[in-house]
Amino acid sequence: QRARAKAAPWGRFMADDGQQERRQMALLGEFSEALASGAIWVAYQPKFGLAENRVIGAEALVRWRHPERGPIPPDDFIPLIETEGRARELTCHVLDHALADLSAWLPGRPDLVVAVNLSAMLLQEAGLKDLVGDALARHGVPPANLTLELTESAIIANAADAACRLAELRELGVKLSIDDYGTGQSTLSYLRQVPASELKIDKCFVRCIVDNPHDRLLVRSTIDLAHALDMTVVAEGVEDAACLDALRLIGCDVIQGWHTGKPMPADEFAATIGCTSSRLAA
Ligand code: C2E
Ligand code: MG
Ligand code: MG
Ligand code: MG
Repeated sequence: QRARAKAAPWGRFMADDGQQERRQMALLGEFSEALASGAIWVAYQPKFGLAENRVIGAEALVRWRHPERGPIPPDDFIPLIETEGRARELTCHVLDHALADLSAWLPGRPDLVVAVNLSAMLLQEAGLKDLVGDALARHGVPPANLTLELTESAIIANAADAACRLAELRELGVKLSIDDYGTGQSTLSYLRQVPASELKIDKCFVRCIVDNPHDRLLVRSTIDLAHALDMTVVAEGVEDAACLDALRLIGCDVIQGWHTGKPMPADEFAATIGCTSSRLAA
């Protein structure tokens, strides 16, 4: 029976719970080794400034190149790593790599800002400010060149700690960004309380703005609201020129998506921004 389920084209959806759990446990067992060996690495996706008309930074996105299973998407291992209490290790790894790469690019592009995604549970860590501050100091990167992206659900789930942690991070001088905006339970009071300087509109709203006037109106009023709150607006998931043109027309500041660049290795990103020195070449 199991063999038949495996052979079916939809086999992976039919995998029984036991098999699924064994796969997850195996992955967890390989996590430390994967961090150490470089199997877990960091890709960079360009953030393109419309006013600047050039790449103004990048988002660091974690990747796991598994020796047998091939590339494992972050959505397939991050929830596991987080529920097993390993979010701190993952974040430190990504932060460390991102800041090492950024420090090699800054001499050529001092304005460049790299964004790192912060796991929700890190908002409960009293040592978060020191963790980030120490990493910046280690790599000699000014705080203003780092953005930390947080989803609204992460902020709401940790509301009690979030206000304090986020204030500490702002004191440090790093930028804060609200990720996947529109997919959680956004309220006006929460927008007013979070000291973020950037709002990223989720790709599910951005995708349809060319064909769907209703979505376009939603995105447009979100942009206006964010600007009224002095925030920069990033549109995620921009896949073609028509979408970019529509976003430009309604006042969006920054574009991130396949149209302006897919997530890529550090040396490729360095070439994109015209920096010859990547960390490896330096
Ligand atoms: P996110 O932070 O919202 O990142 C944007 C996601 O959209 C990325 O997926 C990116 O590859 C994808 N994307 C970008 N442009 C396009 C486009 O034009 N079309 C489409 N269809 N997709 C696009 P990815 O890399 O699979 O990451 C998924 C999520 O995993 C991220 O969503 C983030 O929440 C999480 N993640 C990634 N890296 C890290 C990390 O280092 N730490 C933590 N805690 N979470 C991470
Ligand atoms: Mg993000
Ligand atoms: Mg996002
Ligand atoms: Mg996301």
